[in-house]
Amino acid sequence: MLIFNKIYKVLRFIPPLLLGMLFISFLTSCSDTKEITSQSKPMLHTFVEIKVCGNSAEKVINEAFIEMERVNLLLNNYDRESEISKINKFSGEKAVAISPVTMDALQRAVMFADMSKGAFDFTIGPLLKLWGFSKEKAGLDSDNPTPEKINMVKELVDYRALKLAVLKNGNKTIRAAMLLKKGMYIDVGAFSKGYVADRAMEIIKNNGIKDALVSAGGTIVACGKKPDNSLWKIGIRHPRKEGSFLSFVELNDCSVSTSGDYERYFKKKNKRFTHIIDPRTGKPVNRHQSVTVIAKTGIESDALSTALFVMGTKDGIALVNSLPGVDALIINHAGKVFMSKEWPQKIVIY
Ligand code: AMP
Ligand code: MG
Repeated sequence: MLIFNKIYKVLRFIPPLLLGMLFISFLTSCSDTKEITSQSKPMLHTFVEIKVCGNSAEKVINEAFIEMERVNLLLNNYDRESEISKINKFSGEKAVAISPVTMDALQRAVMFADMSKGAFDFTIGPLLKLWGFSKEKAGLDSDNPTPEKINMVKELVDYRALKLAVLKNGNKTIRAAMLLKKGMYIDVGAFSKGYVADRAMEIIKNNGIKDALVSAGGTIVACGKKPDNSLWKIGIRHPRKEGSFLSFVELNDCSVSTSGDYERYFKKKNKRFTHIIDPRTGKPVNRHQSVTVIAKTGIESDALSTALFVMGTKDGIALVNSLPGVDALIINHAGKVFMSKEWPQKIVIY
């Protein structure tokens, strides 16, 4: 016990960030002279892993993690001190000053909400709460919400009621955000992993690194190649067989994200209620098991995988086919496989 006390006394003076970095840190030797340096740590309610090939890899990874922490502290709606939490707290009351990063993330989120005609709506918070997804263990304490209740709460979900303003005062720029109705609530779960992974990759590239991979839960962003000169390759999880893969794809300077009904759900009377909610019906979506999107950036693949999960299969594939550099693999509720025109790997084993 005494030893544990001593260890605790030492550990509590180490900043949590550093502790996280110490959590897992290892080197993977590769066939070439170059090496992959890899570190992972818990963050964004998931595990984040960064792999870097090249000089000063440890230093670069640490900088990337620091940036991820910084951005997450601004965006995380479960952290009361974040800027997003402040916007939520003063919904219907007043505008809140926000940083350039939060403004940038929200402007991009609005773009994907527009693009998906509101299927992706980051003001989904009140409906997530209604269906029991805003607590640690998802689930309803009583019966399913009534249609009347759903309709009432749906009124609080509309990304167009987020007002963003950039004001110039001399050489000072003020950025502000406000949710127009009291009780509205932004939830960044569908795009923050992608956004934060992009920020990490930016730091890595700014350090002159050409070959790297950032993996944040269901989102991966990759650039360059592995030391053996092959592209980074990732497995796409089978939505119903844990530990099995549907397919593998090579990432050529791009990002891939998967949204799945197996990630966070509860079952009631043998029916699965998953964490992605259709803002139009106000109910958890049950038309897909998983949606994987390849796109140029993390926020794009992350936001679009959630958007397509909500949209019908036909509409989702049509949207992706209209976007250059974006592709999708959809497994519908019955296990049927759909691919966009240019989906790279045609062999999919369900
Ligand atoms: P992802 O795993 O990227 O598909 O994100 C799923 C998360 O996005 C959920 O856990 C919610 O936090 C949030 N979410 C659920 N439904 C929607 C929606 N229709 N639009 C935007 N975000 C959503
Ligand atoms: Mg997403």
